[in-house]
Amino acid sequence: MDYQGILNIIEKQLKITPITGKVADYIPPLAKVNPTHLAMYLKCTSGDEFYFGDYQEKFSIQSISKVYTLALAKEIIGDQLWKRVGVEPSGNPFNSLTQLESEKGIPRNPFINAGSIVVADGLLSVLENPKKDLLNFVRKIASDNEIYYDEKVAASEKKHGYRNVALINYMKSLNNIENHPEDVLDFYYDQCSLSMNCQQLAKSFMLFANEGKRLGTNERVFNSQSIKRINAIMQTCGFYDEAGEFSYRVGLPGKSGVGGGIVALHPKHYTVAVWSPPLNKKGNSELGMKALEELTSLTGLSIF
Ligand code: GLN
Repeated sequence: MDYQGILNIIEKQLKITPITGKVADYIPPLAKVNPTHLAMYLKCTSGDEFYFGDYQEKFSIQSISKVYTLALAKEIIGDQLWKRVGVEPSGNPFNSLTQLESEKGIPRNPFINAGSIVVADGLLSVLENPKKDLLNFVRKIASDNEIYYDEKVAASEKKHGYRNVALINYMKSLNNIENHPEDVLDFYYDQCSLSMNCQQLAKSFMLFANEGKRLGTNERVFNSQSIKRINAIMQTCGFYDEAGEFSYRVGLPGKSGVGGGIVALHPKHYTVAVWSPPLNKKGNSELGMKALEELTSLTGLSIF
């Protein structure tokens, strides 16, 4: 497959596509990001890599981090986790409060804010040093030590995070939060503030495309059962209330963040990360969705 040729076509198409979306502006550090950034990086399970644009420029990965914390929690807490968070698509915006009442404080899935806050709470209860341990975990699965939190983003999230305060207090009142809400949110904002580039993102997701094993050495990091489950949740819940649309248009499991990044993967074939900051109305990168739709159309390959 001529992936580089296909990426070159996608780059040309994106550059002439009019953008109607807007960069996330709920915190100043994200509102300041240059909307014209564009990057795509694809890594095959053969080890080959293909890319264009600002693929080495770091950005705020935001909700993409929800996959890392889920993977870590699944390893440490195991299936007990599913008593506190579900695996159903929410059909609602990422920060929605509405379903929590009818579902008695059990969030629909781990990839919306409420669900990821519960996962963060679970990790806080079992990790020695959550902030350091999570960073080490991400560095380990990306095989890259040049990954850091962006303290300014985390501080700004904390200052403006009224919705998340509402979500966690509501869940606390229904006994689904074990720790002090402020400590949980501090950790949750740290995870959202992880700053990574497309290359690091695609590399870190390779374990999900390669049945839980490292490329090259075949060292097993996750069991294949966990990989199956996490990929399934990415497929059904990775794009908030646009998960169906992403599945329909792209046909791959993936996860987006309001920093404008999207990571997707084709099991046994490749992982791919795209970055374009302007978001559509559902909070997903407008050009990122288009890039991935073109990728699966031009290659003729998707999981379907
Ligand atoms: N930090 C953001 C929040 O909690 C993450 C949202 C996202 O990427 N969807 O609101």
